[in-house]
Amino acid sequence: MRIDVVSIFPSYFDGLTLSLMGKARDSGILDLHVHDLRDWTHDRHRTVDDTPYGGGAGMVMKPEPWGLALDQLAGSSVSETRPTIIFPSPAGEVFTQATARDLATREHLIFGCGRYEGIDERVFEYAASVGEVRLISLGDYVLNGGEVAVMAMTEAIGRLIPGVVGNPDSLVEESHEDGLLEYPSYTKPSVWRDREVPPILLSGNHGTIAKWRHEQQIQRTRDRRPDLLD
Ligand code: SAM
Repeated sequence: MRIDVVSIFPSYFDGLTLSLMGKARDSGILDLHVHDLRDWTHDRHRTVDDTPYGGGAGMVMKPEPWGLALDQLAGSSVSETRPTIIFPSPAGEVFTQATARDLATREHLIFGCGRYEGIDERVFEYAASVGEVRLISLGDYVLNGGEVAVMAMTEAIGRLIPGVVGNPDSLVEESHEDGLLEYPSYTKPSVWRDREVPPILLSGNHGTIAKWRHEQQIQRTRDRRPDLLD
């Protein structure tokens, strides 16, 4: 999969050189490129923002650099198919595991990180002429910029690409994969600070353990996220 990220703070994404994402990039499973939006400006100050039409507080990201970035990154030199272009936004559809699963099947994703009050609205219209546009929110709160949201989405999507996580079985049992939260996990020692591991996990009976874990999933989901059971 190819992923292009456009941001005015490219160094946010240095973390994607680490751990499983770093390995996926080194092995070529993930072809990830981070770009500085200011490289598509042409004035001395490399300006990416301006005051909003109609007045109001804050600045808005100018359309021109975004247009040039999309022309280059969504062009046929980079992508044979129309890319999926994702703009993180608190006003978008909420990102879930199902969104990650869907996006993990795409060949080419482009992420456009907004800053300030956001991006000139015409950029989304133009992007729809060169790709499939999705406005996606990380949750119902406001961040300073799209970078943290794109880091989270890239990791959630990337770990679903075959080969990124060493043991694919570990993906199946995660929270949200079957609509429930994951069961509690324990490791050695079996007693730690007077707290014992549930004896059933030491029984060696895989059928009973599987049943107990499923019950724990339901109980935990009922307690913490009853909305998922609806
Ligand atoms: N004025 C915008 C609004 O009220 O909808 C918020 C702009 S926010 C300060 C700047 C940028 O942060 C947004 O363009 C978006 O890229 C990103 N952002 C903020 N909150 C987000 C969230 N919950 N999910 C995804 N991206 C978010």
